[in-house]
Amino acid sequence: MTVHISTIDSIRRSLVALRMPRALEALDATLRRIEQGDIDGIQAFDELLVEELTLRETRRIKAALSMARLTTVKTLSSFDFTFQPSLDRNRVMALAELKFIDRAEVVHLLGPPGTGKSHLATALAVEAVKAGKSVYFATLADIITSLAKAEREGTLRERIRYLSRSALLVVDEIGYLPVVPGGGNLFFQLVNARYEKGAMILTSNRGFAEWGEVFGDAVVATALLDRLLHHAVVVQIEGSSYRLRQHADLIPEHVRSKALINPPPVPKKRGRPPGLKTDRDNG
Ligand code: ADP
Ligand code: MG
Repeated sequence: MTVHISTIDSIRRSLVALRMPRALEALDATLRRIEQGDIDGIQAFDELLVEELTLRETRRIKAALSMARLTTVKTLSSFDFTFQPSLDRNRVMALAELKFIDRAEVVHLLGPPGTGKSHLATALAVEAVKAGKSVYFATLADIITSLAKAEREGTLRERIRYLSRSALLVVDEIGYLPVVPGGGNLFFQLVNARYEKGAMILTSNRGFAEWGEVFGDAVVATALLDRLLHHAVVVQIEGSSYRLRQHADLIPEHVRSKALINPPPVPKKRGRPPGLKTDRDNG
C-alpha cells in the first residue's frame, strides 16, 4: 500500500479538482476493501463513481422537485391499487413510462374526493422529474391567481411563457373552488399556449359536462375542452375515499352519493382550430 501513497494522493487531488466530494469521502473505505481483497480495482472504480453519481442524482432530483413545486412527494409504489379496483394499474404504469409527455398529451384524472387523484398526479410528476423532464405542479386556483396577478401587472405574456416552458404541467383540483370571473379566460390562454407543445395532467372531481359551471362560462369551457380532449387520456376513478376508508360507514348516504361525479361525455370529433399545428393525428 505504501508504494501507492503518491498515486492515492493524486487521486485525492483529482477528486477535489473534479468536485467529487462523495467519491473523495468514500475513497479510504474503498481502498481498504481492495486491501482486504473484497473488491478488485475495476469494482473500486465502479463503486466510487456510483457513490458520486448517486449523490448528484439525489441533489438534482431534490432541486427539480422544489422547482416543480412538488412539496409532498408521493410515489406509485406507495399507491394501493387494490383499494381502487376501478382503476387499471397497467394503464397507470403505462403512463409512468412518460410517453405522454413526449407526445404532449393531456391526462385527465377524474374521481370523487380522496380517490387518489392528487397522489397519482404527484407520483407521475415525480417519475417525470426523475427522468429529467421539467415539471410544474400547481392547483388551478393558484395558476389562475398567478395569471390574474400577472395580467394586473402587465406581465401576462411572460407568465404564460413561463408556465408553458415545463415539459409537464400538473393542474390539480379543477372543480373544487369556483373560478373567479375572467379566470377561465386566463386559463384558456395558458392551455392554448401549451396546446400540442407540452403535456398536462389535470385532476378533477367534476365531469366534463360540468365545466361550464366550474369555469362560470360555457363558451370558455367548450374552448378549453376542445384543446384538452384532443390528444387526451381519461382515467376515471370510481371508488371511495382513501382518506375516509376507516370511517366509510359513518358518512351519511346523501353525502356519499353527492361525491360521485358524472361520467365524462364522449369527446366529440371537432375540426382543428385554424393556424395550429396539424402534423399528427391521434397522438
Ligand atoms: P384526491 O386528490 O383524489 O382528493 P388524494 O390523492 O389527495 O385524493 O388522496 C388522499 C390521501 O389518501 C392522500 O394522502 C393519498 O396519499 C392517500 N391515498 C389515496 N388513495 C390511495 C391509495 N389507493 N393508496 C395509498 N394512498 C392513497
Ligand atoms: Mg386532490
